[in-house]
Amino acid sequence: MRVLIVEDEKKVAAALRRGLEAEAFTVDVALDGTEGLWMATEHRYDVIVLDIMLPGLNGFKICENLRASGDWTPILMLTAKDGEYDQAEALDTGADDYLTKPFSFVVLLARLRALLRRSGRSETVVYRAGDLTIDPATRRCVRGDTEVELTTREFAVLEFLMRRAGDVVSKSEILDNVWDFAFEGDPNIVEVYIRHLRKKLDDPFDRQLIQMIRGSGYRLDPDGG
Ligand code: CA
Repeated sequence: MRVLIVEDEKKVAAALRRGLEAEAFTVDVALDGTEGLWMATEHRYDVIVLDIMLPGLNGFKICENLRASGDWTPILMLTAKDGEYDQAEALDTGADDYLTKPFSFVVLLARLRALLRRSGRSETVVYRAGDLTIDPATRRCVRGDTEVELTTREFAVLEFLMRRAGDVVSKSEILDNVWDFAFEGDPNIVEVYIRHLRKKLDDPFDRQLIQMIRGSGYRLDPDGG
């Protein structure tokens, strides 16, 4: 999958590039609107992540331009919460979906996958660890024959650990990927969510899915615990 990111905030663009490359996307980044439109026109992408407020040419203009020339590459627009433009306008100019900043990487990834699926460009991904299965598209989590209810954030933490099953992942990696890029709260929030997950996924089944590796982070047992 090839994705174009048009985003002038370098930190956000770099974080998106890292995250999407780890998900096996091929990533191009344009840091202003003029370059973004040029790249979108010159190359073929499976999906475009398009910021609205950009130097050179704003996201709406890029979107309008592409649609006017018959280019229907799926577009996910990034809108600012209190910006002067609203989400309706994003959709009016021909964007397929929008995401309000600040957003978490996991939510962005879920939206991109949904867009790719809707456009017939991608297959469904389901993650398994032993008798535990999660389906990010439907947000279902099943342990054995039992469906387990998770909150959005619990699901996001679990999805991140499932994608990295068998690896030791640090608390800060989890924070960077599951919480907003700009999150500046207490990193110990991760522990709280791990506790919730254990209570729901381990205790009733007498298992131990998520191991704590002292001083390094967490490891999700690829066999489900
Ligand atoms: Ca911007």
